[in-house]
Amino acid sequence: MKPNLSQYSILNTHYSLLINNSYFCFMLRYLSADYIFPVSSEPVKDGVVVLNESGEIMDVLNPTQSSTIPGTIEHFQGIITPGFVNSHCHLELSHLHGKIPEGTGLVSFVKNVISQRTAGEEQVLSAMKTNDRLMFENGIVAVGDISNNHLSKSIKQNSSIYYHTFIELLGFDPEKAEAVFNRALELKSEFAPFPASVVPHAPYSVSEKLFGLLREYSERHENLCSMHNQESRAENDLFISKSGEFPDFYKWMKQDLNFFNARYQSSIQCILPLLSAKQKTLLVHNTFTKPEDIAAMVASGKEINWCFCPNANLYIEGKLPEINKFLDHSHKITVGTDSLASNDKLCILSELKVLKEHFPELPFSQTIRWATLNGAAFLGIDNRYGSIEKGKTPGLNLVKNVNGSELAPYSTIKKLI
Ligand SMILES: [Zn+2]
Repeated sequence: MKPNLSQYSILNTHYSLLINNSYFCFMLRYLSADYIFPVSSEPVKDGVVVLNESGEIMDVLNPTQSSTIPGTIEHFQGIITPGFVNSHCHLELSHLHGKIPEGTGLVSFVKNVISQRTAGEEQVLSAMKTNDRLMFENGIVAVGDISNNHLSKSIKQNSSIYYHTFIELLGFDPEKAEAVFNRALELKSEFAPFPASVVPHAPYSVSEKLFGLLREYSERHENLCSMHNQESRAENDLFISKSGEFPDFYKWMKQDLNFFNARYQSSIQCILPLLSAKQKTLLVHNTFTKPEDIAAMVASGKEINWCFCPNANLYIEGKLPEINKFLDHSHKITVGTDSLASNDKLCILSELKVLKEHFPELPFSQTIRWATLNGAAFLGIDNRYGSIEKGKTPGLNLVKNVNGSELAPYSTIKKLI
């Protein structure tokens, strides 16, 4: 039965719900800060968020509306935001924290991850458990998480964070496409009943045949797509002229590349026709994405979202995407942390601070949307998360030590709800 909310009034410290013909009385909380950023609407200076005991948003009030509140208002210095959505993470690589050298470029980074990712199950689980908790404390309420095995399931099912698991396809050898795809489907079923999709790792690591199997599957099933894109110059070199570092990498992997010919186009422009038009697609990193690639994505009419993980880009390639080039079109932008193999912490505020440092013209009122509502919309959970709106339970963060309504290098995060 849908609760009857007609008895609710913001001017009471309690509200009642009619549930199964009985009235239940609940306490309200009033949280105020220098700014409330609801995200779905304009920031409210000295606003008040009204919420019930289960963290459900009952209202957002401006100072005039809140002047007659009879209850106690808890006031904080800083900005109240919705909980963060980390749209790209690899929780299962948490045990690699501090193990992979910085600034080596993507190809060496991938070689290092392949060589070092094997570890005892206990060590892997313990690192995941710790970092799931740290993400929660860092104000993250939902995560799009890449997985290559089932180990993270036990952490996810006991977590307070919402996870959507992206089961990653890795296989450039066309002869192995069916086996790789069937194993991914098995893994997806192992994650049931939790939300999961089968996704390609990257253009340089998934054969056309494997992309074809995924496309067929995605035409018939609801299946979000999340793919690493143009994280290195080498990826474009491979597709444009079969040159650069990847031919040597595949030699190191003992993978014959005779089946692959230069395509004279950037990687993403080659792969674009292989993605199902029915899928929402998140392209992650985009460090070497050019305006003509963005134009091709727009022209395709496909539902493309761009995810930026700036700390990981600086860690691996020492370079950031040209973010300003992504702003003048209708595609949504999200933010991710990537893994602890290429980051010091899984903290969205830290990613937003790097964006502010390198793109000072981007207001926090814009980047906060990338880190909350856009990620929630991509994951299909914006009915609950992503903005401070009536009826949602988005979690609330306090961003402290700000500069008015802007982030500062010394800004910190405190999870309120
Ligand atoms: Zn990644």
